[in-house]
Amino acid sequence: MHGLFDDFISLFYPKICHACGNSLYRNEEVICTFCRYHLPKTNFHLDQDNMLAKVFWGRVRLENTIAMYFFTKAGKVQHLLHQLKYKNKPEIGVFLGTLYGLYLKKHEPITSINMVIPVPLHPKKQRKRGYNQSEQFAIGLAQTMNIPVESRLLIRTHASETQTRKSRFSRWQNVSEIFAVTNPSAISGKHILLVDDVITTGATIEACAAKLYETENVKVSAASIGCTHN
Ligand SMILES: [Zn+2]
Repeated sequence: MHGLFDDFISLFYPKICHACGNSLYRNEEVICTFCRYHLPKTNFHLDQDNMLAKVFWGRVRLENTIAMYFFTKAGKVQHLLHQLKYKNKPEIGVFLGTLYGLYLKKHEPITSINMVIPVPLHPKKQRKRGYNQSEQFAIGLAQTMNIPVESRLLIRTHASETQTRKSRFSRWQNVSEIFAVTNPSAISGKHILLVDDVITTGATIEACAAKLYETENVKVSAASIGCTHN
C-alpha cells in the first residue's frame, strides 16, 4: 500500500537523482545507481601518499587524507555538493556519508578512528542554512563506522572566511584564529576524523587540525566528499 502511494506521488513529483537529474527508480535514493557507480571516486583510502595527502605535506601532519570524489566545475559532483549546501538537502550529506563509511570500514588504518568532527560553520551561518553540510556527511560516516560525531568539541568563533588573495602564511594566521576547542580533555588520546564537504586549498583543514593538535596526544585524519583534481 505504501509503495502504491509512493508510486502515485512520484507520478506528479518524480524523485530525481541529485547528481544527474534523471528520475530515480523506487529502490533508489538520492543518487541513481548509474551515478553511484560512475561518479569519479578517488580511492584515496587505498593510498596513504595520495595527491590530497601531498597538499598537506610540510603544513600539518595528517594520518590519513581521503576524499570520496573528484569534482570539476559544472560536473555532477559539483552539482551534488551545490544541492547539499545551498538547496536545503541535508539528506544528501547523510546518504554520501553512509556510502563512504561502507567503503572505509574495510580498511585497517581508517578503523582506528575514535570520533568524527565536522568542520564547524559559524553559528549565524548555520542558523541561516538550517544545518551544517559537513556535519550531515559526518553523521552518515559515523553511523556506518559505529563511532560518535562530536560537533561541539570544535567551534568556529569568527565568521570570516578564508581570504584567497592573501598569501598562504597570512591566510593561515587568519584562519587559525577562527577555530577553538571547547573541551581538550575529550579529544586527548583520540584519533579524530576531521570532515569537510570540500577540500581545495586545504587551508581550513590545516587550521582546524592545528587547533586540535594544541591538545596533547591527538591524531588527526581528514575526509571530504569532494576534492579538486590537480
Ligand atoms: Zn544519476
